[in-house]
Amino acid sequence: MKILFVSSEVAPFAKSGGLGDVSSALPRALAAAGHDVRIVMPFYPRVRAPGRHISLVRQHVEMRIGPHRVVFSIFETKLPGTDIPVSLIHCPGLYDRPGLYGYKHDEHLRFTVLNWAALKVAQFAQFAPDIAHVNDWQASLIPLLIKTHFAWDRLFARTKSVLTLHNIGHQGTFGAGVLVDTGLADSAHLFHQDELRAGRLGFLMTGLLHADHVTTVSPTYAKEIQTREQGVGLDGVLRARRGSLTGILNGIDEDEWNPTKDVHLPMAFSSSDLSGKETCKRALMGALRLPYAENVPVIGLVSRLVWQKGLDLVVNVMPHLLRAAKFQFVILGKGEPRYEEFFRTLARAFPNKVHFDSAFNEAKAHLIEAGADMFLMPSRYEPCGLNQMYSLRYGTVPIVHKTGGLADTVWPFDEKSGHGTGFVFEHFDDHGLHWAVRRALSVWGTGMGAHRERWRALQRNGMDLPFGWRHRVGRYVEVYERLHRG
Ligand code: ADP
Repeated sequence: MKILFVSSEVAPFAKSGGLGDVSSALPRALAAAGHDVRIVMPFYPRVRAPGRHISLVRQHVEMRIGPHRVVFSIFETKLPGTDIPVSLIHCPGLYDRPGLYGYKHDEHLRFTVLNWAALKVAQFAQFAPDIAHVNDWQASLIPLLIKTHFAWDRLFARTKSVLTLHNIGHQGTFGAGVLVDTGLADSAHLFHQDELRAGRLGFLMTGLLHADHVTTVSPTYAKEIQTREQGVGLDGVLRARRGSLTGILNGIDEDEWNPTKDVHLPMAFSSSDLSGKETCKRALMGALRLPYAENVPVIGLVSRLVWQKGLDLVVNVMPHLLRAAKFQFVILGKGEPRYEEFFRTLARAFPNKVHFDSAFNEAKAHLIEAGADMFLMPSRYEPCGLNQMYSLRYGTVPIVHKTGGLADTVWPFDEKSGHGTGFVFEHFDDHGLHWAVRRALSVWGTGMGAHRERWRALQRNGMDLPFGWRHRVGRYVEVYERLHRG
């Protein structure tokens, strides 16, 4: 199949979170399965990197979008290690900025242009997509554009659209006044009418109305977002489309996140030989200048420091636990100042137990995944989550809230049967997190002798689970094929 894949971030070119990872790994897996994929994304300044070959394909493309005359160029590169073409939309006025997102005055315009330009790219390349696979609100106008402004072009006659929701917390909702800027004012009747009347226009909402199929990144999240509590205002339309909504767990990149060959680690390890993990722990503690002790467990946390990640529980619970119990806590993440301030203060209060680094650092993320004994992920909600799967793979036992993809990937450890892969709390409150961390520490026990054996068995339960993309890609292909069968 020919698949036009559109995303606002694609690793390694530009990534702010899981979306970037998926937008790189899924096309890779599709291509490996024999499909013809073309990716389109904005040409942010960070895309240019030493050694990266980027060529100009078409200069000075002019497009009328509503009242705007937009001029851009198309560059092309390959997804590293593959033949997958990545078309880069070069429009400095919109994309030459330090961050990927958050430019209030023209955010809607930045991604409107991405949507129109992606279809232009297909036209120039004479690439007739069987599937336009679009991601999150930033690419959500494409299903409607295919049915309206681009409907005349026979290139898209067979095209079905699939919208993947990575996080419905980000909806791209603007004042209804942006309608003209989308270039779709003549199709106003195809937008959500109640929303328009209420003075709002949601990009994601529009995509949900018009995509031929909607997927989201875990089965549990697919159910959660149909509820009033977790639908963030989209539950109504999601319930209406439940027959066309599928939850497919994200995979992980098994080359990048693989303890048997991770280039960031001082020593490799595997489920059959965990000795290298201890070396990684020692190296981690050395790098962070924290005292190392084999029998003292290290809890790791690598995350964007935002409300979604359940950090309010961490704020309430961890200081108390750090005073009362024997463990160390290492945090890597950037985000909201209130959380950064909290972790900075925590590190000062417990200089031998806590390390905080406010940075985005891939190498360090790998070392924490490998060197820590437990991994904390108490997210309020979590569409899929990748870090808990990395943790499982690295024998770093996850402590998670039972929500979304966390519920689908981490099974509560049962001491009697020896089954299970982590520690899971059901109710999102201080008590829940406190209980789960206490449970983890109690199963860790002294970290020696029989306790150690039990811990090793728990680690092994998670290490060889089939989390790779090659185990997932078939689910997407099923969705594509079903659309074409009608
Ligand atoms: P989300 O997409 O909501 O941020 P995920 O768990 O799905 O959460 O994906 C997070 C990705 O971003 C992982 O690959 C994780 O390792 C990475 N990440 C987050 N914060 C940092 C950081 N400070 N340094 C390095 N990697 C990070």
